[in-house]
Amino acid sequence: RTKKESRNGYRFFSSTMQIQSARNLQLVNALRQAITLEQLAVFYQPQIDLQTQEVIGVEALLRWTHPELGPISPAEFIPLAESSGLIMSIGGWVLEQAVQQIQCWHAEGFENMRVAVNLSSIQFRNPELPVLVAKVLEKHALSPAFLELELTEGVALEDPVGAMTMMDALDQLGVRLSIDDFGTGYSSLSYLKKFKVYKLKIDQSFVRDISTDEEDKAIVIAIIHLARSLGLKTIAEGVETPSQQDFLQSHGCDEMQGYLLSRPLSSVDATVFLRSRYPES
Ligand code: C2E
Ligand code: MG
Ligand code: MG
Ligand code: MG
Repeated sequence: RTKKESRNGYRFFSSTMQIQSARNLQLVNALRQAITLEQLAVFYQPQIDLQTQEVIGVEALLRWTHPELGPISPAEFIPLAESSGLIMSIGGWVLEQAVQQIQCWHAEGFENMRVAVNLSSIQFRNPELPVLVAKVLEKHALSPAFLELELTEGVALEDPVGAMTMMDALDQLGVRLSIDDFGTGYSSLSYLKKFKVYKLKIDQSFVRDISTDEEDKAIVIAIIHLARSLGLKTIAEGVETPSQQDFLQSHGCDEMQGYLLSRPLSSVDATVFLRSRYPES
């Protein structure tokens, strides 16, 4: 915004806020029925092992298509789902879809495929979470080792003791925890040694300019080394170019996902993708 505009900042801001909150209200009301109206879909973005180039898993990413407004970004509707409490049912639905899908792929012969599901901090603070997760795994007869739960650094900030108890309980179940968008939060690194973390997801903001920006290079190398010395795995997200992949591979990053390999795909398209990569399965 220019200086001239910001002088009128208050008026500009408040009218934008009104438009925003009207839209938010509309979205929350629509979101309430989005599951039953079958407007939600879980997409799957493939991940590969950088050593073997094998597809080792997928990240489940929620998609919402509103009948009039069209596709709404999760960056917009997830916060609304969180503030309205709808994230509990929506998050539970995503988890079940993802677990069921992996079970299907296992049955088709893609035996080692894992799924990573994003977990809101609201879900993470629900004491029932371990029971819910256990029930879904049991219902679809999936071994917990094939489920990863992605948390952001923030979850440990507000209530470190509660977070530790929850991580212990999930770890006991046998599911794996990864820290999403690693490096963008404000938490101290000490939680990594206390908490039952399995993998660090290197945020795409560090990956983007990895081929040209010396600071981003240094940060990514430092994260990989930190992870290795703590016995954690690393995955880079947002990999879009071969030179980014080469850099990550040569510096010992374990896995990657990004548009270079594939965009997030519908269940049908992800199945086509897997079949084309593994024609023998
Ligand atoms: P995230 O978990 O960090 O997911 C990665 C985001 O990066 C996804 O955006 C994905 O589509 C996008 N992405 C993947 N590869 C590339 C690439 O090569 N380049 C670029 N520019 N972007 C790439 P998406 O699907 O829009 O999701 C945004 C965020 O919304 C997610 O960030 C996650 O925090 C949240 N989210 C999505 N689905 C769920 C869900 O089921 N539950 C919860 N709680 N949050 C979700
Ligand atoms: Mg994620
Ligand atoms: Mg991320
Ligand atoms: Mg993110």
